[in-house]
Amino acid sequence: MKERYSLHAQGIVQGVGFRPFVFNLAERLGLSGWVLNSSAGVFMEIQGDAAACAEFRHILQSQPPPLARIDCLICTQIPILANESGFHIKESATGVRQTLISADMAVCQDCLTDLADPHSRMYRYPFVNCTNCGPRFTIIGDIPYDRANTTMKDFPLCDDCARDFADPHNRRFHAQPIACPACGPHLSFIQAKTGKLIAGDPLQLAASWLRQGKILAVKGLGGYHLACDPFNQEAVCLLRQRKNRYDKPLALMAASLTAAEKICIFNNNEKDLLLSRRRPIVLALRRPQGLAVAEAVAPGNRRLGIFLPYTPMHHLLLQSFDALVMTSGNLSDEPIAWEDEDAFYRLSALADAFLTHNRRIYRRCDDSVAVWAAGAPRLLRRSRGYVPEPLPVADQGDLLALGGQQSNTFCLLRQGQGFVSQHIGDLDDVATYEDFRRQIQDFCRIFEVKPQIVVYDKHPQYVTTRYAQESGLPLLSTQHHHAHLASVLAEYGLKESVLALIFDGTGYGDDGALWGGEVLLGDRSHYTRLAHLAYTPLPGGEMAIRQPWRMAMSYLSAAIPEQELDGVAEICHWPRPWSLLWQATKGGVNAPLSSGMGRLFDAAAAIAGFSGQIRYQGQAAIFLEHLAWQDQSQGAYVLTLTKQGLIDWRPMFQEMLRDKRQGVSPPVMAGRFHRSIANLAVELAICFSRETGVRRLALSGGCWQNLWLLEHVYPRLQKLGFSVYANRAVPVNDGGLALGQAAIGAAYLAGNRE
Ligand code: ZN
Ligand code: ZN
Ligand code: FE
Repeated sequence: MKERYSLHAQGIVQGVGFRPFVFNLAERLGLSGWVLNSSAGVFMEIQGDAAACAEFRHILQSQPPPLARIDCLICTQIPILANESGFHIKESATGVRQTLISADMAVCQDCLTDLADPHSRMYRYPFVNCTNCGPRFTIIGDIPYDRANTTMKDFPLCDDCARDFADPHNRRFHAQPIACPACGPHLSFIQAKTGKLIAGDPLQLAASWLRQGKILAVKGLGGYHLACDPFNQEAVCLLRQRKNRYDKPLALMAASLTAAEKICIFNNNEKDLLLSRRRPIVLALRRPQGLAVAEAVAPGNRRLGIFLPYTPMHHLLLQSFDALVMTSGNLSDEPIAWEDEDAFYRLSALADAFLTHNRRIYRRCDDSVAVWAAGAPRLLRRSRGYVPEPLPVADQGDLLALGGQQSNTFCLLRQGQGFVSQHIGDLDDVATYEDFRRQIQDFCRIFEVKPQIVVYDKHPQYVTTRYAQESGLPLLSTQHHHAHLASVLAEYGLKESVLALIFDGTGYGDDGALWGGEVLLGDRSHYTRLAHLAYTPLPGGEMAIRQPWRMAMSYLSAAIPEQELDGVAEICHWPRPWSLLWQATKGGVNAPLSSGMGRLFDAAAAIAGFSGQIRYQGQAAIFLEHLAWQDQSQGAYVLTLTKQGLIDWRPMFQEMLRDKRQGVSPPVMAGRFHRSIANLAVELAICFSRETGVRRLALSGGCWQNLWLLEHVYPRLQKLGFSVYANRAVPVNDGGLALGQAAIGAAYLAGNRE
């Protein structure tokens, strides 16, 4: 008995080998019909035995190709056709853009086998790929995903590639980026100083320059890296100096899992993360007595950021190394370089030579960063390998959410799907802001979204505020920490109210102060502020964020009699003009009020021994966390909660100062401080859940990147019977704000429709 069905698949179904999979499956089951790619998804018609048709549907849903994600499959029975023979792949059609673009995926095992096989025409070819692997998001200029819409259109196929491309039985059937040494892109090695091509095998040249301690700019998937030998202290220091990046850890690319395990320790979960096709940088503990990388790679850090090769070129380059430093190709805060001309302009002073190639990168995409903590993989930066896969947001409505000023990502919402952008960076930098504008336009075009509103952070000084006001769209502003709360709701699909412990640096508050140590009760539409850290001034405004001793001065001044300050300045080594600064602060000159938890950590770090300037976000807190992990003692300081919902930190600073005067060691002080914050979190949860009856707890804000804190608080709250939700899919830092803003905006639009 013959039957015929029409099927429509939506989700990640293009550029992932979906059509050849369907073709081969239909052929195997003896079905006739066709498959068609369109910008609204994949359409199929199948005809044959009822049992075979059922089997087809079953396999499509239960075992789709490895990179595919079917979000929706609609199947309707239709009348059978007479005289149909064979199964065909039809030409792509255009239409409404419902289809998703796959993220860039690491080279697959089959392609690695080709890469190592002297009899394969892909032998040692740095751009080998197939329908199951390779570049996607970074080379796609438009959809549908066809070669003509990617940067691979520069390379007409040779006869061999054309044959593989057209053969439905071949692994490279309709692999849009297919290429080989005869027709595809190739590597070149260029001296930075002269801009001249150096003759020879580019990979061998690169390896030998690296071995000599040189610094290379290496063109990868989503941009350029700067590479050097991580076991050569001089080379690493030189790289830092040229890049103007001090202290902030540099990522390592290890040749293989075996090589990575010589440097770090991985549990099974961390191994899975490291080996995943998405290939994030994984923060892992150093192996005691392991292969020691140069001190300058990650000074004073117990973890290293480590990842594995994800392009065939990386695999070939790493063959002669255990690991290489692979850090983003930029000067400190600028965006990573991705266009060749710009890269030569900006990186020729930083690198000695370029290992580059002639496949254009359509859009930049930095490496993602992940950590396994409190029972889950958590993204600290969501970018290459993850973007542009959408995250579901409960409500409908098309909108644009702009994110925050630091670690910026933005989010486009289309019919309940949140397209969170790749990591854009700190918008204080002019070039980064330009890129922010460009990427928004690009996202609106390829996902064909016409936003109904623009959602942005209330902070009057964020450039996103100006962008929103100039956009001409209806405006919706959100409070920073409400957006952090909502990012958790969005991730977990929660519509109910939650109690949120938002431990953050600074965000603009409703009263004009800088908030950041907040207990909020709220859902996506509303929130109330139940408690917060007592305010203290930031002496000198922004400067207080860069110089932690200023915060120590601010808190201690409130905690002890003024006449004792002199002595404290001495033992804490505050710079000379501290008293002038203190007078100005007392007089309210450039001294905005803050309830930021990040600032509390800064002050504690300064008292425990952190001196000097902060050179990257969270540096003082990371210093303190590092110390806390070394502490084996017990005990904590006291923080009290007043009836008015103020968290009083004065007793804590009095005790810390007593410890300092008595010569208590920095690790013990750091341990006590961390335990006090953990106790505070637990007490706040107990107190306010009793008061409100809410047992769902959200943890968000940048301070939760502190793994000591997360790993001590999370299990305690769970043991007390709370349902605990902390960010996983988007960063707990400001990289997750945009998703939260999108959720608030969607709820707002839904409310307006009712
Ligand atoms: Zn492959
Ligand atoms: Zn070819
Ligand atoms: Fe924040």
